[in-house]
Amino acid sequence: MSEQIRVRFAPSPTGPFHIGGARSALFNWLLARKYPEGKFVLRIEDTDRVRSSKESEENIKESLKWLGLTWDEGVDAGGDYGPYHQMERLDIYRQYAQKLLDEGKAYYCYCTEAEIAKERETLMKANKMPIYQGHCRNLTDEQIEKYKAEGRKPTIRFRTPENKTVEFDDMVRGHMQFDSNGVGDFVIMKADGIPVYNFAVVVDDALMKISHVVRAEEHLSNTPRQVVLYHALGFKVPMFAHISLILGKDHSKMSKRHGATSVEQYKKLGYLPEAIVNFLALLGWAPQSEQEIFSIDELVKEFSMEHVAKNPAVFDIDKLNWLNAQYMKKLSSEKITMMAIPHLVEKGYLTGALATEEMARLVRFTEIIRDHLSYGAQYLDFADLYFNDEITIDNSDAKVVVTDETALPVLDLFKQKLSAVDIFDAAHIQPIFKQITRELKVSGKKVYMPVRVALTGQMHGPDLAGIIEVVGYDRIMKRLEKAMSVIKTL
Ligand code: GLU
Repeated sequence: MSEQIRVRFAPSPTGPFHIGGARSALFNWLLARKYPEGKFVLRIEDTDRVRSSKESEENIKESLKWLGLTWDEGVDAGGDYGPYHQMERLDIYRQYAQKLLDEGKAYYCYCTEAEIAKERETLMKANKMPIYQGHCRNLTDEQIEKYKAEGRKPTIRFRTPENKTVEFDDMVRGHMQFDSNGVGDFVIMKADGIPVYNFAVVVDDALMKISHVVRAEEHLSNTPRQVVLYHALGFKVPMFAHISLILGKDHSKMSKRHGATSVEQYKKLGYLPEAIVNFLALLGWAPQSEQEIFSIDELVKEFSMEHVAKNPAVFDIDKLNWLNAQYMKKLSSEKITMMAIPHLVEKGYLTGALATEEMARLVRFTEIIRDHLSYGAQYLDFADLYFNDEITIDNSDAKVVVTDETALPVLDLFKQKLSAVDIFDAAHIQPIFKQITRELKVSGKKVYMPVRVALTGQMHGPDLAGIIEVVGYDRIMKRLEKAMSVIKTL
């Protein structure tokens, strides 16, 4: 590509930063980073004054930074084509709307919202396309004066050329064609002087010299309107790429029902940004090899819009969990522990800073459980093993295990042998299980299971000898004694 690549991410700050938005941002970012001169611009489309908020804007910016998707130009970063908040660009839109009015390419429309709604309804009932029928297209001066006298505030409507083919190129979908008669005359400026999305986006993308518009498929139906505006304003039409919808695993549109949908939620759950980026890249883009794990640098090298699929991408949380687990494997146990501590404090497992020895012990606990974790928040699922000595045996299968006739003799012998261990670590504890099977002539399962249930209340879990070591002799003895007295009453 010879021209300079300038792409943008243009979110409307109207709520939490959705994972689909993050994917659009990532695809743009990757495209920019692929070329030495590429620029990634962040523009905030805040014209919806009711739904936009600063809080949402901050959330988007924080999330982008967390994912490593830094922008070269735009809000906070500055640049030659600002301002980058649409609400700070109202004069610019007015100027271009005026140009269209002066050239007869747009006109004032005095129809009220109620009149428009009524017209749409009538058209729909008659099975016709609900496009504006052109009531104000050619008003006389008298009509205009009459409407003004009634106090009607006009919108500005674009005069869409009739019987034309609207064409554009899309990197994902190929050459696209639409009939301009299906577009109809549409509002570009509302009566309050605020532009509508389709107008503002064209003015901004053109003035900001955006070369490629990469965005979600849901905007595909807006593109013909934007293309007619590019032509009317004498702007060069950029290259488009409409990337597919993200569906849940059940193939319905991704929504809250499918679990976490915002970047912030994933962050809070202790997913790693590298894993999220890797996962998002694979939502639509098909690498040309079997490779699934890509560092961000590898993505920059390998990613290409040519291999972005047209069909919807399916958000497979199991795949994300698997990927995240791969990235977690690269972290030290100290790091995973540090990540877990705030969550442990929040849930009341810890009260504050840990002494060095306690910290070392917690790190050792992390070593024992870490292979069971796909993401940070799962640490809490294991916290009771370490922190909670109030073991309850309430699961019916667990009760069956500990009420077996061999269970108490096994626990008793286990207790004796544990007191005789020289060094209280997993390596020295582990052989005890085998010794008991031999001495009491019971199966391994009949030894492991009652000990696990007595010490943890659970039927399955991470390495038992490791847990015993890390909980420590005194607390394990107490757990054991308590369990044995409870079992006797079952
Ligand atoms: N503000 C629009 C949105 O958030 C931007 C669409 C576009 O990229 O053109 O959906």
